[in-house]
Amino acid sequence: MKFTSASLLLGALAMAACDSKTATLGESATSSATLEAAPAAAGTSGTQATASAEANVAPAPDPRSIPAASSGNAAAILARPQVPILCYHQIRDWTARDSKGAKDYIIPVAQFKAQMQMLADSGYHTISPDQLYAYMTTGAKLPSKPILLTFDDTDLDQFTVARPTLEKHGFKAMYFVMTVSLGRPRYMTKAMVKQLSDEGNVIGSHTWDHHNVKKYQGKDWEIQIEKPTKTLEEITGKKITYFAYPFGLWNPQAFPELKSRGFVAAFSLAEKRDQNDPMFTIRRIIASGYWTPRTLHNNIKQSF
Ligand SMILES: [Zn+2]
Repeated sequence: MKFTSASLLLGALAMAACDSKTATLGESATSSATLEAAPAAAGTSGTQATASAEANVAPAPDPRSIPAASSGNAAAILARPQVPILCYHQIRDWTARDSKGAKDYIIPVAQFKAQMQMLADSGYHTISPDQLYAYMTTGAKLPSKPILLTFDDTDLDQFTVARPTLEKHGFKAMYFVMTVSLGRPRYMTKAMVKQLSDEGNVIGSHTWDHHNVKKYQGKDWEIQIEKPTKTLEEITGKKITYFAYPFGLWNPQAFPELKSRGFVAAFSLAEKRDQNDPMFTIRRIIASGYWTPRTLHNNIKQSF
């Protein structure tokens, strides 16, 4: 892949983002996430309540320390209620050039802030992917009303707009970085990614330049997965163990390739999970720019 074609691709990505459809209800939940609730902290403000509730949950173990008997038990994993996971891309006000379809991936600043306020007001607690992993594989306890926030594609406004908004509510998130874009205009720098990681957020791998995993052959695994993941490990000083599929697209052939390269789980989008390997097809929904806080709340309840 030449530098120039990657640049062209980035331009297209600004519009195309991760997926062509939004909020497709692939796998409807059988129970609406009545997860084990931590004892509620009485008479505290939102932020304090978050801290108290989370303090009652044991720290998540390193996923790699969880025995294969648990992480490979697909039936048990599939039987547990799904934790809601949201996927965001750009957070900025719409312009006249934004197409109707692109607006699913571009959430106006005020709309984003309103969505986060709704989550806080509704009592949601953001969790880490390690907490999610421990819950999915072993049934480990989670805070009440758990939710995982994820941000794809390295967009600069995730740092400049989302980060302070999340901080206000005491929220943590996951950032899936495509390394080709690091330091480019309108994208985050390595220093920003490092800062997000240092501040308690988790960085995941999202390939080098967003090529479809289903089409990889030969050196593609090295170019798209191995090298970018090593780059992210050098930036953060931490092991990178989570992956998100570009466009949410995957096939079962990708699972052993990802596992052999140190990944413990991978995130897709709204379609149904793989029945044999649910940890490598963890579902997320794209929180559309069209969604009011109420619509988001309804979609969270209906999709997981
Ligand atoms: Zn993406």
